[in-house]
Amino acid sequence: MYINGVWQSCENNFDVFNPATGEKIGEVADGGVQQARAAIDAADAAFGEWSRRTAYDRAEILYKAWELMMARQSELSELMTCEQGKPLKAARNEVKYAADFLRWFAEEAKRVYGQTIPSARPDQRFIALKQAVGVVAAITPWNYPISMLTRKLAPALAAGCTVVLKPAESTPLCAIAVFKLLEEAGVPVGVANLVTASQPAPIGREFCENSLIRKLTFTGSTAVGKLLARDAAPQLKRISMELGGHAPFIVCEDADPVHAAKGAALVKFLNAGQACISPNRIYVHESIAERFLETLTERVAGLRAGNGMDPSNSIGPLVAEPALDKVARQVEDAVAKGAHLHTGGSRILENGLEKGYFYAPTVLSGVTDTMQIYREETFGPVAPVVIYNDQDDILALANDTNYGLAAYVYTQNISRAMRLFEGLQFGIIGVNDINPTSAAAPFGGMKMSGMGREGAQEGIEEYLETKLGGFSV
Ligand code: NAP
Repeated sequence: MYINGVWQSCENNFDVFNPATGEKIGEVADGGVQQARAAIDAADAAFGEWSRRTAYDRAEILYKAWELMMARQSELSELMTCEQGKPLKAARNEVKYAADFLRWFAEEAKRVYGQTIPSARPDQRFIALKQAVGVVAAITPWNYPISMLTRKLAPALAAGCTVVLKPAESTPLCAIAVFKLLEEAGVPVGVANLVTASQPAPIGREFCENSLIRKLTFTGSTAVGKLLARDAAPQLKRISMELGGHAPFIVCEDADPVHAAKGAALVKFLNAGQACISPNRIYVHESIAERFLETLTERVAGLRAGNGMDPSNSIGPLVAEPALDKVARQVEDAVAKGAHLHTGGSRILENGLEKGYFYAPTVLSGVTDTMQIYREETFGPVAPVVIYNDQDDILALANDTNYGLAAYVYTQNISRAMRLFEGLQFGIIGVNDINPTSAAAPFGGMKMSGMGREGAQEGIEEYLETKLGGFSV
């Protein structure tokens, strides 16, 4: 753990495993409430000096961190592949994406503009000033174990906040590497603190109940997000919630089915389907369904699962055994209720992969709204295809979910693209685009997918208060 500028051990440790091989790859300190409190106190003590520094000073440190992260892209990617499992190429992309937040918010730090507002009274002036919220508590998931940290740390530090972060239990080594880099970049003592832990609930409660924390930012499941939002409510803490998703992927009748199928195969199987913006219902118009399914199945059957350190593998393992069980349950339920299995459909237990958590890349068609996979987030390598026709209201079908994070549309008709873009109740829409993300673009969900936005200009607003000054002159 990194508390008040000191790397600390603890009475107890917990083990970290490689999900591709089941091997133990490290051991880290198992922090608890006592360590969380010490970290919060350190962040509180550091807040005054850090928030009073010029934005230029803070930006300089973030630029340095960006440079260091890019210089270490290879070693960080290798660590990520060992700890989290995604293929090395995808890990390299994530490190670059993570570094982008450091650079973007180094730049945004200098653009925290307030406002002067004309008054109706000649003897009055209004000034709206933007100020750092205060001490921030951050909780992050394992699926993007570096970029989910910088997406919070960079804007918080740029705004002048100090931070205590608790990473996921499965990926603390990536978090430690990020904090080593921040220390080296010159982040002052107490400004950024890391508490690793195997028991998240007591730390989450401390973050909610400790009055020194002014803002809680969370990325993870909707279930845990709701719990934290409830616990943060008595103190009316400011919260940002980046939660689960159930993305529709709509292939309209005028789309090129081959192009759309290639897109679906790419985005669905990124990180073995363990992404919050992963398509979870692929709606294909009946007139092009056959060609679409043919291409999708061919592509997916050609994906090679295995250890991400081998560049010929494009599908890594799932995070742990319960994730495999969830995927298997959803696939069995769908097949029992009449879905057609085109490829995959089982855990991989050959060629040494039985030691890891590999599930074969899977395509299902004939998926209906009675199946679990139609409602539940899968977080695994399964593409569920729903065939629709002219009688179906595709917008209503796509919006029929409690989630509202990402959606995708394939069409060559600009009016249809605009109608769907405007009508879909999701925070991020890819139109003929499978990668609608960037440090410069606002990321976040509607409905049960959360509140607040990360990245973009809006990302730093989450860490700022607006203070109004009325001056009689
Ligand atoms: P999770 O179980 O909610 O865990 C996320 C983080 O919360 C981890 O650090 C976890 O610690 C911690 N946590 C768990 N229970 C807690 C509690 N009672 N109090 C405080 N903290 C607690 O989610 P996950 O399985 O790691 O991540 C997958 C989910 O994240 C998916 O639903 C995915 O869609 C979502 N996600 C959303 C976005 C987005 O931007 N919207 C991005 C990535 C992922 P432990 O690791 O120790 O359990």
